[in-house]
Amino acid sequence: MAAICRCCSEDPFEAFGGGGGSGRKWTPKSAYEVTETVDNWEQYINERVAKSMPEAMVRGLLEQIASNIDKYGPDPVLDDEECIWYGNFFQGAPVIQLHKPGETEAQPTFVNRILAFFFATDAKFAALQKLPKVAFPMDCGNSKCIAYRHIADP
Ligand SMILES: [Zn+2]
Repeated sequence: MAAICRCCSEDPFEAFGGGGGSGRKWTPKSAYEVTETVDNWEQYINERVAKSMPEAMVRGLLEQIASNIDKYGPDPVLDDEECIWYGNFFQGAPVIQLHKPGETEAQPTFVNRILAFFFATDAKFAALQKLPKVAFPMDCGNSKCIAYRHIADP
């Protein structure tokens, strides 16, 4: 009897989307949408990036970022709004896996450091580089936010 009651009282949407009741309900972009987003972002990449990273690697990193944000949410590169990260966290900050050429294992790398490397002006990037090698502080104070424009000015 008890088992039947428990079953009936459960919210059918609780189990949907892998949220597990943690509130992490979101809709990933399709593979096509990820590619489209990465194509769009590539236009804004600073030219210093091509000097230190092959294009396939750049796209691989951008794909990881595009794959872990809500398809209906704001764009972390182009929009002003909070962009919530649904990927992995390390030391409390959003990370993706960076696989450097010649290294056997991928390393967790802070998403906002990658975004700054890709999209910041040379002056801002140089100033940010002087900060400790952890995730950059965010103006909004939201540790789940990866909006590029929220990276605090050093
Ligand atoms: Zn933010």
